[in-house]
Amino acid sequence: MKALVTGAAGFIGSHLAERLLQDGYEVCGVDKFLENYPRQWKEQNLSGLLRHPRFRFIESDLVQLSLPELIDGVVYVFHLAAQPGVRASWGKEFDRYTHNNLLATQKLLEACKGRRIQKFVFASSSSVYGDTTDLPMREDGVTCPVSPYGMTKLAGEHLCYLYWKAFEVPVVSLRFFTVYGPRQRPDMGFHIFMRALLRDEELPLYDDGEQTRDFTFYSDIVGGTLAAAQYPGFGEIFNLGGGCRTTLNEMLQTLETISGRKLRIKKLPRQAGDVRHTEAELGRARDRLGFNPHVGLAEGLRQEWEWLGSCLK
Ligand code: NAD
Repeated sequence: MKALVTGAAGFIGSHLAERLLQDGYEVCGVDKFLENYPRQWKEQNLSGLLRHPRFRFIESDLVQLSLPELIDGVVYVFHLAAQPGVRASWGKEFDRYTHNNLLATQKLLEACKGRRIQKFVFASSSSVYGDTTDLPMREDGVTCPVSPYGMTKLAGEHLCYLYWKAFEVPVVSLRFFTVYGPRQRPDMGFHIFMRALLRDEELPLYDDGEQTRDFTFYSDIVGGTLAAAQYPGFGEIFNLGGGCRTTLNEMLQTLETISGRKLRIKKLPRQAGDVRHTEAELGRARDRLGFNPHVGLAEGLRQEWEWLGSCLK
């Protein structure tokens, strides 16, 4: 069986593609090496995949590709390609967000019309909820993004739903909650904190550190994404979270213990687009997808710490 993974050179996409190969799929990966972070990280993510006989890689922008050919024979489409990141989504960078998150999604959905794919899985984000105090965040709760990035992800979900309603493209959208672990993007919190620790630099902390996140280890996200592909329903939305809400201050203490190093924190003001808390209500994902996150924060942090240490040696 053939699966298409968009964003296959990225953090989550490369892990998902590896898992699909392990499960016996033939995998086609597409990635344009967007400059949201240096290409070398993405090449490293891809290195194992490129040696696999059942993996084919296409370096291209989804918007430029002949997508009907790409979809030929594909059973599952995993659409992870996007311009991620909340803080960078303001101002002139917004162009990138509309191109990669909206236009690319619309083109891919259009190409899937009338095809025999079994599932189109869209990687959405907890950012669609915005800055709510109504926790945990429920899939049927209010969505009110506070960043342009979150807005594009919500619009992506709506596009998916439109193509399900109008053309029966078999979509499912997944709201990922702060994903971490080996290969985490260099612009993400844990990666920034660990890099600063490894280099004995000051570590930037926005806000007072009492903001909370539902951190989710990448292998739990990959498991939930595969379960969503095999789930018999369509047009639905699921939260995928780690199952536990932690303050950044608590997380940093755990990191100090794991690394055996003392943090030097530089406090900075809260940034536009940041939300104060996130927490996933997981009942729906547990009931319908059998989703059950396995990796706790201390174990996940330890794995990311070891990975980054070996990369920056
Ligand atoms: P990533 O940047 O590592 O991976 C995304 C990949 O998509 C990149 O390699 C990029 O080059 C590629 N890409 C972007 N636009 C493209 C296009 N038009 N054509 C082809 N390739 C393109 O990001 P990630 O952290 O792995 O995130 C994967 C997905 O999960 C994204 O859709 C993101 O919005 C979503 N998500 C991630 C998180 C998280 O915590 N990492 C949380 C919520 C949602």
